[in-house]
Order: sequence, then C-alpha cells, then structure tokens
Amino acid sequence: MHHRVEVLIFSPNQVTNKATTESLLCPFFQREVATDFDFFYFVQQWPGSYCDTKQSCCYPTTGKPVADFGVHGLWPNYNDGSYPSNCDPDSPFHQSEISDLISSMQKSWPTLACPSGDGLKFWSHEWDKHGTCSESVLDQHGYFEAALNLKKKTNLLQALKSAGNTRFQHFPYDTYYRHYFYTTVSNKSKGKKKMFTGIQPDGEFYSLNNIKAAIKDAIGYTPYIDCNVDQSGNHQLYQVYLCVDTSGSNIIDCPVLPKGRRCGSSIEFPSFGNVAED
Ligand code: 5GP
Ligand code: 5GP
Repeated sequence: MHHRVEVLIFSPNQVTNKATTESLLCPFFQREVATDFDFFYFVQQWPGSYCDTKQSCCYPTTGKPVADFGVHGLWPNYNDGSYPSNCDPDSPFHQSEISDLISSMQKSWPTLACPSGDGLKFWSHEWDKHGTCSESVLDQHGYFEAALNLKKKTNLLQALKSAGNTRFQHFPYDTYYRHYFYTTVSNKSKGKKKMFTGIQPDGEFYSLNNIKAAIKDAIGYTPYIDCNVDQSGNHQLYQVYLCVDTSGSNIIDCPVLPKGRRCGSSIEFPSFGNVAED
C-alpha cells in the first residue's frame, strides 16, 4: 500500500507526540504514518566532471573547492521511482537555522554553477525542492546535517583509491594481478611501468564495474553511477547515487534505480586540480 494513502488518514501534522503515537500504533503502522516518502537518494557529484563539459563551471566566491566529491542533494523518493517535490512553500530556507553548518557546507556542498555564488542559492533550491518533502522526519538543520554526515561516512574518493589494493591483498598472484591491472586501467596506460594505485581522478578511463565494485567493497552497497559527456564526447564519472533509509542516516540497497544517464562500460575519471589529502 502506498504511503500517500496513509497520509490521507493521519497527516504527519496530526502525529505530533511521538510517545503517544507509539503507544497507540504498532511500530510498522507508525512508520508508515510518520513518513510521506519511501527512501532518499543521496547524490554526490565529481567537480572535475561538472566542469569538464561544454557548459563549464564557476568556482564558488568562497574559493575553489578541494578535489573531492561534493554533495548535490538528498532527495526523498517513492519506491515506484516517482518523487515528491516542492512540498511546503511555507517553509523557506533560512541561513540562520544552519549557521553552524555553513563552513562545512562550503567545503562539502560547494556550488559550481555559473555565475559564481556563495552556495546559498544552491542549498536553498535543494531545500525548497527536496528538503521540504522530508520535513516529517528532518527539520532544516537535521536535513543538511544528515547530508553532511552521509558525505563523511561514504568517503567516496578513498573508496575508489583503495580499489585494487584490497583485491591484491586478497589475491596476491601475479597472473591475477596483471589481469586486474590491464582490465582496470585504460588502453592509454597499457605497457606503462606503473603500479596500479586504485581508481584516481587522473583523467584515465576505468571500468564502470570496477568503480561500482570499489564502492561496494568500501561501503557495502552498490551505487548507481550517472555519467556526463566531456568536450571530446567521452563519458565520464559525474554523479554517484546511494540510497538511504527514511531516517536519513543508514545506507540501504536501492529499492528502485534512478533515471540518471547511462555510462559506457569504461568511463573517464577527470582530474580536478590537486587531489585532496587522505
Ligand atoms: P537530471 O535530469 O539532471 O537527472 O535531474 C534534474 C533534477 O531533477 C535533479 O537535480 C533532481 O532535483 C531531480 N531528480 C532527478 N531524478 C530524480 C529522482 O530519481 N528522484 C528525485 N527525488 N529527484 C530527482
Ligand atoms: P536540481 O538539478 O537539483 O533540481 O537543481 C540543481 C540546481 O542547482 C540547478 O538550478 C543548478 O543550476 C543549481 N546548481 C548550483 N550549483 C550547482 C552544482 O554545483 N551542481 C548542480 N548539479 N547544480 C547546481
């Protein structure tokens, strides 16, 4: 049964006292009542790919972001693939509600759209369009904090970097290693006497399956990868989608795959200035 049907019976606004609710309703039913969406997509973007397109990018007024994945958004979704948006025009974005988070947001959720901005427009857009649809679970502060915590917890760049090394430790056989090396790194690198040092933003091509496997190895869940196209027409690693339960804190298997653009079997991981320190 769909959640929206439940909402007609008990609107989230009616469920104001958690203790009372728990005593009245069984845990399953209470969960159904308390949320009006099924899960979140947590979407992170690679700045090198955002910038490496015809559209180009503008660095934030607060400075060039470090070479790391940045948050794009935390999006409430339904299990059938559809999603609510702009749920509460009476709940505008207020910088004052998240003043303690602003410096982390500048670092972890930088805006790359042109013209350059300080991020407030991007965050306000994400709150209005998506955040207002999970207000039954997370208020404005809780929403942005949840996204920042997820970014820290997933540490995608490190997950990709440690790819291969883990496998090498598990399978210390030269033949396997050589096979893994040659199937992972692009044609450009074949023949170079370079040890495989994981999946890095070095402008090389990597297998989509190896990218997914590296993230699954590190995080425990397979991501969905969304590609865009660079100026020469190459598919590149643009966004990484993970699914998160309605609390906004636990990564889960995706109930439904997002509709993002498909990638080829081998995709570019563009550089973005200096790579962030470990
Ligand atoms: P795009 O067409 O660039 O993939 O998506 C445009 C915007 O639509 C996204 O930035 C996001 O705000 C919204 N969007 C796209 N796909 C989804 C989805 O599967 N779930 C949710 N909740 N929003 C989406
Ligand atoms: P969505 O695609 O989430 O609905 O909307 C993203 C909006 O935020 C667009 O209007 C886009 O121009 C703006 N925006 C500002 N900075 C960024 C950024 O760094 N990445 C993305 N994807 N959109 C940004």
